[in-house]
Amino acid sequence: MIVVMKPGATQPQLDHVIERIEQLGLRSHVIVGTERTVVAALGEKRDGAKQALETGEGVEKVVPILAPYKMASTEVRKEPTRVDVLKLKVGAGHIGVIAGPCSVESKEQILQVAEMLREAGATALRGGAFKPRTSPYSFQGLKEKGLELLALAREKTGMAIVTEVMASEHVAMVGKYADILQVGARNMQNYPLLEAVGESGKPVLLKRGPSATMDEFLLAAEYILKSGNTQVMLCERGIRTFEEHVRFTLPLATVPYLKQTTHLPIVVDPSHGTGKASLVAPMAVASVAAGADGLIIEVHPEPEKALSDGYQSLTPAAFVKLLAECRKVAVALGRSM
Ligand code: PEP
Ligand code: MN
Repeated sequence: MIVVMKPGATQPQLDHVIERIEQLGLRSHVIVGTERTVVAALGEKRDGAKQALETGEGVEKVVPILAPYKMASTEVRKEPTRVDVLKLKVGAGHIGVIAGPCSVESKEQILQVAEMLREAGATALRGGAFKPRTSPYSFQGLKEKGLELLALAREKTGMAIVTEVMASEHVAMVGKYADILQVGARNMQNYPLLEAVGESGKPVLLKRGPSATMDEFLLAAEYILKSGNTQVMLCERGIRTFEEHVRFTLPLATVPYLKQTTHLPIVVDPSHGTGKASLVAPMAVASVAAGADGLIIEVHPEPEKALSDGYQSLTPAAFVKLLAECRKVAVALGRSM
């Protein structure tokens, strides 16, 4: 349920509503809007709760939240959420660009590409240190050494660091080095991990599972939001279909659909979403046209030598061209990038 306060409701009236919600065995979450304050009452439905809250002073009305996800829903918060980390801004009219190699491979590789990307205009650096690989015999990442190299790259470039955390027990360690915790597609429904990244208080990039529905995706985000961590970005990275010309199928209708259902920013990953370097730039441009709030792009100084996902990685020069094309579309649509 959402308790909508009257315009000009006082702090003691608000405190009283929060107390009533908690007495009813529900969790309260206050959202201060530009026009009025609303309090979401979250938890199992309780008989009589609506009536009990409606009589509170300063309360205008109590309305049910219809969507299964609550805090992620535009029913609870209408204003778009913006994720703001160092120079990276994603959402509310600003398109953020995260770029970097699939994996951190060496000091030279990450520092070289970070510098090139910063110059090109990316504001966040991606790079996997813990890699979820389909085969246990593939390169698994440099682990903590990779995290140290990412932190060094931040020191040198000022870019925010985005890196994947694969297990709950690694959240504290990864959080020590990273600015944004990525939850990978394979872990979208790892609920203890979602709760742990929520409790870390760090901004989160949540990738859509390749077979997850929109409701499952939003309910996964809800696990993070319910801890009070509101800095969550949703990332469409492609789904599994019968198609063979691409690694995954990138469904861009996800972007306008999520814009209608959630206030959270939507990032698109056309690298994993296509699996082919030649398809990445056109799909990045299309993502911006569809309304994406951010892009995450794999870029490697020498894609043919990459230890993972080289076939879908752009050269720094191709990335510069991609950004120039995306910017034209962003500007035409009245957004900054
Ligand atoms: C990645 O970003 O390198 C990655 C493994 O992504 P996903 O979880 O979307 O497969
Ligand atoms: Mn990758």
